[in-house]
Amino acid sequence: MSSKHATFLPSATPPAWLGVMGGGQLGRMFAHAAQAMGYKVAVLEPARDCPAGQAADHLLCAGYDDPAALDELAAQCVAVTTEFENVPAQSLAHLAQRIVVAPAAECVSIAQDRIAEKRFFTQCAGQSGVLPAPYREILSVEDIAGIPDDLLPGILKTVRMGYDGKGQVRVTTRQQARDAFENLKGVPCVLEKMLPLAYEVSVLTARGADGQAVVYPIAENVHRDGILFTTTVPGPNVTAECASRAQAAALSIIGQLGYVGVLCIEFFVLQDGSLVVNEMAPRPHNSGHYTIDACVTSQFAQQVRAMAGLPLGETRQHSPAVMLNILGDIWFNGDDDPLEPCWDKVLALPGANLHLYGKDDPRRGRKMGHVTFVAPTLEEAQQHFRDACVMLGIAAGRFRG
Ligand code: ATP
Ligand code: MG
Repeated sequence: MSSKHATFLPSATPPAWLGVMGGGQLGRMFAHAAQAMGYKVAVLEPARDCPAGQAADHLLCAGYDDPAALDELAAQCVAVTTEFENVPAQSLAHLAQRIVVAPAAECVSIAQDRIAEKRFFTQCAGQSGVLPAPYREILSVEDIAGIPDDLLPGILKTVRMGYDGKGQVRVTTRQQARDAFENLKGVPCVLEKMLPLAYEVSVLTARGADGQAVVYPIAENVHRDGILFTTTVPGPNVTAECASRAQAAALSIIGQLGYVGVLCIEFFVLQDGSLVVNEMAPRPHNSGHYTIDACVTSQFAQQVRAMAGLPLGETRQHSPAVMLNILGDIWFNGDDDPLEPCWDKVLALPGANLHLYGKDDPRRGRKMGHVTFVAPTLEEAQQHFRDACVMLGIAAGRFRG
């Protein structure tokens, strides 16, 4: 345990103030979990009307690198965390001079940069047993000439700021890769081999300042148009062997990173059954939202515990769960004027838990909320998920299992 954490341990119990960098839905659900435990929550976010700001005890409305706002946050809070990976690492390093920052700036900077992340996963592979997809760093258009032939077809991904499939282009020829690189304005990229995926999983893990780590049940994820559509736990396709390999890899990676906080690691399971590590998020993750309704300790309560230096909570799942992301698209199923979906009907379904993020401007592709269906059996949870899709005008067709 670091001496710094030990110093802060006694004062990080409620009703202390906890800070979060970022005002999105992850910050909002963090605030709810922290407040339920009796903490006060400060949010630093430039947008005044934001999901986390609505829930926070104090909204510091300023840029993530505003020195005066960072000083105010440090003066008010005993510990600070982040709800998105693109927070400036320098801001976290600055805060860490005065208060506990979990996860640390060095860990967040690795997750912000696909090259640093892939190099780190490769370094870890001796112990973790998993490698990233074959890739090459593309820093200039000339690098494309030197890529091995078998990297194509591939996906060109920007090194920074990608999310929900943004900053990604699928390419089959070198010329397409050159055009895509130019369309992405020549920013640093990686070209990753397109792999034959059987399904996708993620593993949520958390580690305390004392080095103790916990892992949640593996989650199976289905994406649509690059955006997470559903998370199902237990995953209909996941074998016990795959689950234990992915969980062991996640624990190995979080340990090798010396990380404190909640970390989510995404994996691909290939058609031959092999496991490939894709990327990590240094925070709670959309695929971990099911833990709110289906596990003893939610990922947000776990984030509170980790940053506050408290013992980590049990990760046990008490109910099978299907989490359905709610995008702004379903407000526009009728005509052009947005229409509030029929929440009363959805909530009549057994085991339906609605979470809306307080965004009053529905847009296509925008995450507005999620619904988690829990039930005594997975089949029942899946049936209620399908019923909700019919009610909400969502095609459930491509849902597996
Ligand atoms: P996120 O919203 O998870 O942050 P992202 O935009 O950072 O997403 P990735 O997770 O790298 O991007 O990719 C998005 C999706 O594209 C993956 O979940 C997967 O379905 C598909 N994909 C990405 N890389 C590959 C690959 N090498 N081979 C096959 N499919 C891939
Ligand atoms: Mg991803």
